[in-house]
Amino acid sequence: IEFRPFRVQPIIRESLKLLRATIPSTIEFRQHIDESCGPVMGDPTQIHQILMNLCTNAWHAIPDQDGCIEVSLKPAGRVGERGHLPPEEYLCLTVSDTGHGIEREALERIFDPYFTTKEIGKGTGLGLSVVHGIVREHGGDIEVHSEPGGGTVFRICLPVLSTPP
Ligand code: ADP
Ligand code: MG
Repeated sequence: IEFRPFRVQPIIRESLKLLRATIPSTIEFRQHIDESCGPVMGDPTQIHQILMNLCTNAWHAIPDQDGCIEVSLKPAGRVGERGHLPPEEYLCLTVSDTGHGIEREALERIFDPYFTTKEIGKGTGLGLSVVHGIVREHGGDIEVHSEPGGGTVFRICLPVLSTPP
């Protein structure tokens, strides 16, 4: 993989355009994209992959094709000093849905390769493990908040390239 500086904003817009063309129109898409977020260092194709995997999962979790998927990008501020490294600026990419949520026992295993709750042939169980791997390769972190019946939120923090003073 080749890492280079790029802005996440256009990647989100392109990914959502593609997803909008695939996902039934009864599912509402919302996007809140903060233009002030600086560039990140990484592979834009992989960030696109993250959005495809998370939004496809969200779609499949929404009952009766009736619900909402929201993607947002915001600055996440500075995160503490790590050893000799200066505090880093982060951005935060979240994908939320109004789907069926995740049971507590499953929540601990969703990032494991081949973990799936889908019927045989319907899911590989690889989507979230790929997402997790990509986030880590980009020096970021991912967390999930979910409750059965209460929807799901995936929150990804990625380090923003520091601008010279
Ligand atoms: P797959 O989609 O092939 O099952 P993933 O790794 O993408 O594999 O997801 C693993 C499991 O995590 C899913 O089978 C599902 O149980 C759960 N999951 C992932 N995203 C969501 C979501 N947005 N809402 C509810 N459950 C989810
Ligand atoms: Mg999946």
